[in-house]
Formats: sequence, structure tokens, C-alpha cells
Amino acid sequence: MPNDSRATELPVINLHAATYECTFGRGCDGICCREGRPLIYAEEIAKLHANLSRFLPLLRPRARAVVEKRGFVSGRRRLGQPLLRIADGWCVFFNSGCVLHRVGAEEGDKFRYKPAVCSLFPVQQNEHDQWYVRQHGFENEKWDLFCLDPNNSAVSAAESLRDELALAMRFDDEARAAQANAGDVGSAE
Ligand code: SF4
Repeated sequence: MPNDSRATELPVINLHAATYECTFGRGCDGICCREGRPLIYAEEIAKLHANLSRFLPLLRPRARAVVEKRGFVSGRRRLGQPLLRIADGWCVFFNSGCVLHRVGAEEGDKFRYKPAVCSLFPVQQNEHDQWYVRQHGFENEKWDLFCLDPNNSAVSAAESLRDELALAMRFDDEARAAQANAGDVGSAE
């Protein structure tokens, strides 16, 4: 589980103004999982494969059939990475909520199995590696999701996204450590 206390240390370029409130189960059916097609990294694919037998019984019957026949990774790519497959218009791992989220939460870490882009949403990095909260009218946001319209919530993103910001902080730390290690290896050569 991310360490929430460090979330506010992450530089997020629009955090002072961003508002956000997830209303899944309170009016929203989880539409980001219908339209999302998240990209997924090789290590995340490996983790899902290793635990797939636990997820399969929890999937929608159609989604389970698709995954068993064709796998959960589609042939499409974004930013060079493969995307999760959809079935009947929804992510194969969606079943009245994210199955990966549910299984992870039962084990004490809701982010354990979810792809990073899903876990971080709506926090992400721009092309300059700056963190920001996705909002209509900012960084050329094109996704017309209700929750990305800052006019639809007065809740500060700094509060509502503490877990996501803490996770972003962790990813930042890991990236810095990897860079430092690469530098050590390079200087030792
Ligand atoms: S992996 Fe989970 S959170 Fe991500 S799109 Fe699929 S169902 Fe939604």
C-alpha cells in the first residue's frame, strides 16, 4: 500500500487548482473502464498471467471466454505498449468494478494487480515527465469523461487523489533509483 503521508511531496503542476471526485457506484458505472483500453507493461502482463486462474472465475462470462480463447492483451498498441483487450465494449477485467482492484484490495493493496495507468488515473505525466491531474482545459485533455470536468466537482484533487499521488511518488522514487543504479554501473565500466 502506498505511503499516503508522502503524497503531498510530489510536484504536480496543476494540483493547486485541480478538482476531482470519483463517483463510481454513486452515479457512474465505471465508464473509464469502458472507454479506456489501458496500456500495459511487460512486467504487469507477467503478473496477471501468474495470477490469472484467480481472476478468471470473477470475470463476466463473455469476458472470460474471450480471455481463455484469445488472451487479455489485444493486438493494438499505444505509445509502443500493448493494450488490454475489451469484450462487449468493456475491459475484460471489468465486472461491476475492476476485478484486479477487488482482488488486490482483498489482499490489502488495491493497486497490486491493476495496470499502472489505471491505478494512477487521473494522475499522469506529460511529455516533459511533469506530473499533472487530467482535467478538461489542461494539457489538451481530449477524453470527455464527466469526472475530468473540474466544474463537476468542488473536491480538491490533492485530497481525493491521495492514494494515486502516493503511488506516483513511489514510481518517481523507483525511477530515480533505477537511474542512479544505471549511473553507478556506467561509472564502474
Ligand atoms: S484493468 Fe481494471 S481499472 Fe483498468 S480498465 Fe480494466 S477494469 Fe478498468
